[in-house]
Amino acid sequence: MWQSLSSKFEGSRKMSIKPTKMMWKRMITVVLLITLIMFTVSGVQLTNIMIVKGDFYKEKASQQQLYDTETTALRGDIYDCNMNLLATSATVWNVYVTPNDFKSAYDNDKQRMETAKSKIATGLSEILSLKSEDLLEDLNQKSSYVIIKRNIEKQLADKVRKFISDGQFGDVIGLDESSKRYYPNESLASTVLGFVGSDNQGLYGVELSYNTQLTGTPGRVVASKNAQGSDMKFSYEYVEKAKKGNTLILTLDTYIQEVAEKYLDEAVVENKVADRGTCVVMNVKTGAILAMAVSGDFNPNKPFELSSKYKTQLKGLSGSKYKKKKAELQNKMWRNKAVSDAYEPGSVFKILTCAAALEEGITTPTTSYNCSGQITVAGNTYHCHLTTGHGTQTLSQAMQNSCNPVFISLGSMLGVKTFSKYFNAFGLTEKTGIDLPGEASSSYHSEKNMGPVELASSAFGQTFKITPIQLLTAVSATVNGGYLVQPHVVSEVRDADNKTVSTTGTVHKRQVVSKNTSETISELLYEVVELGGGKNAHVAGYKIGGKTGTSQKVAENLSASKTNLYVGSFLGVAPADDPEIAILFLLDEPMGDNYYGGTISAPPGGKILSEVLPYLGYEPHYSEEELKSMSKNVDNVTGEKVSSATSTLSAKGFKAKVVGDGDTVQSQMPEAGSKIYDGGVVVLYTGGKKSTTAKVPDFTGMTVSAVNEAATNAGFNVSFEGASLTASGVTAYSQSEKKGTKLPLGTTITVYFRDNTTVDFSAQG
Ligand SMILES: [Zn+2]
Repeated sequence: MWQSLSSKFEGSRKMSIKPTKMMWKRMITVVLLITLIMFTVSGVQLTNIMIVKGDFYKEKASQQQLYDTETTALRGDIYDCNMNLLATSATVWNVYVTPNDFKSAYDNDKQRMETAKSKIATGLSEILSLKSEDLLEDLNQKSSYVIIKRNIEKQLADKVRKFISDGQFGDVIGLDESSKRYYPNESLASTVLGFVGSDNQGLYGVELSYNTQLTGTPGRVVASKNAQGSDMKFSYEYVEKAKKGNTLILTLDTYIQEVAEKYLDEAVVENKVADRGTCVVMNVKTGAILAMAVSGDFNPNKPFELSSKYKTQLKGLSGSKYKKKKAELQNKMWRNKAVSDAYEPGSVFKILTCAAALEEGITTPTTSYNCSGQITVAGNTYHCHLTTGHGTQTLSQAMQNSCNPVFISLGSMLGVKTFSKYFNAFGLTEKTGIDLPGEASSSYHSEKNMGPVELASSAFGQTFKITPIQLLTAVSATVNGGYLVQPHVVSEVRDADNKTVSTTGTVHKRQVVSKNTSETISELLYEVVELGGGKNAHVAGYKIGGKTGTSQKVAENLSASKTNLYVGSFLGVAPADDPEIAILFLLDEPMGDNYYGGTISAPPGGKILSEVLPYLGYEPHYSEEELKSMSKNVDNVTGEKVSSATSTLSAKGFKAKVVGDGDTVQSQMPEAGSKIYDGGVVVLYTGGKKSTTAKVPDFTGMTVSAVNEAATNAGFNVSFEGASLTASGVTAYSQSEKKGTKLPLGTTITVYFRDNTTVDFSAQG
């Protein structure tokens, strides 16, 4: 009310206006003016105002002596699931001046007024780091209230207070209490948190969806005017204290969020991803979102500032074109890709076709199928990505091979009616109801409009669009015992006294498949990672299940210059024998050398799981093979004779590299207690030298044994990460230290491996 009313008086320049005593006078003058105008227009109206509303104006007049002001309530805090602070509010102050009050404050004495203005401009410009000429301009405005600096913190506010009291400027300068939102982790989880506007109202994320909870109740302060001439012009009394907003406790886990963001950002850069990526980690049993990362995220402390990636797109633009593009980029930057952007899921969707077929009893893991490389449905021929055909294979192998014809057959055996029934039951025709704003709807062939051709393409995940969060929720239902759960990011709301207001637990919407089917799907997905197209997500010591996908983006969405664009994704579940978490890792429009989900999304998906599973308390159980290639502790051989040190190390399976011609080991690299792999190098320094460096080789493209050999020859150790090293076709694709870097001999370099032969292409040929 106040802001909208009073801003009418103020013209264009300042944003927020608060009532002052002078304003009341002006307001009444204006009201009376309007009344006068209305009088000429309608006598009836005037009668109405005078008779009916007479009391209202009387009351307004009396308020010239009594000021009733709202005080700001602090917005509630936001925590992660371990009570790490993600968002908080603090009291800050706005400094204002009241130019129209100078006349009365200095008895209309021009000389004194000018002296005061110049003192204020100089003094405040120093304290508040403002230009004194700008301040002077503010002081000379015809205005009753001008904010000269917003959101200053206590230390600065105290300085301003001292300046006011020292110079007796209390009639013309003042401070208003306000509050400011802080996000201590900068851009971490910004897409989920969202941000607030200048009036602290939630504009995005949970700040928006829980705005009512977070907004507190403002308080009231009544000030009354004392006799003229007294030191204290007003006396204040709190009528009601402001009440802080409710606290939110999220299901997000800061650690898991950090891991997801780290690998997502890396993959987006490495694969030159043009249309962002997202990574969501969810508890499949409860629907709690543990991490939701969207690449190119923003800093909610400065939400309107474009990140560097977007800023470059504004180059060369000006005027309205600049403004339009900037707004478009801001919206893109804020948009929650996991919730607001529907896409064609491609081969990952085969999990759902498979689950429906298992549940309906029309297939089993050992049922045999034949793939000739193509299949014809209603006159349309669909090719398998392996054009020569997969030949005879079981359902389990068809999952590993991501064989299109087999899933087209399963779709046709299910039929339109049953397929649609499961599509619906898996929640793909409704929003998930996640407690975040902007959830997009899916688009799909309705049962009525679905013919054999639409059914065929739908069965392998093309020609319909769902959101990443819908897919993750649906797949969770295929491995958690069969239940469609409701995903959520807030687990509890507490009031300002830390009392629970509400909690969100597990919401089972319905059971879609049986426990049996669910167990079978988990086993099939485990085999996909162990033996099939998901092997790049392998994590030593853990049972990971998953399915990869590479879907073609629909031509109608593409400009002529952009053809053949893809979404490469990986959906993982772990531990595969009783899944607790599911992860969806998705890269939209990868423009690098490779775009297959199995090659670009499965490796980072595996890396995330390799860090998240131990963190969640799952102990690794290594296979015999894995144990053989595990790293071992380096012995302490410093001080020993070279010959004895060498034999100690070789007994353990290490190689010794002697530098210098002394006969005693003076230092060693790696140091005692470090872990290196079987066959690794320990450099023994025997002369004066303590360290020798060498150039790091380029390992990319090498097989496991070639990397081993190159590293040993150069005098480095390697630690192996990524795809199961026993699988064929595995080569190195990145390394922790850049090629050519000079490093001390014996240093351990992490080399990442993947299988480049995985194919999970779902687009039809
Ligand atoms: Zn095939």
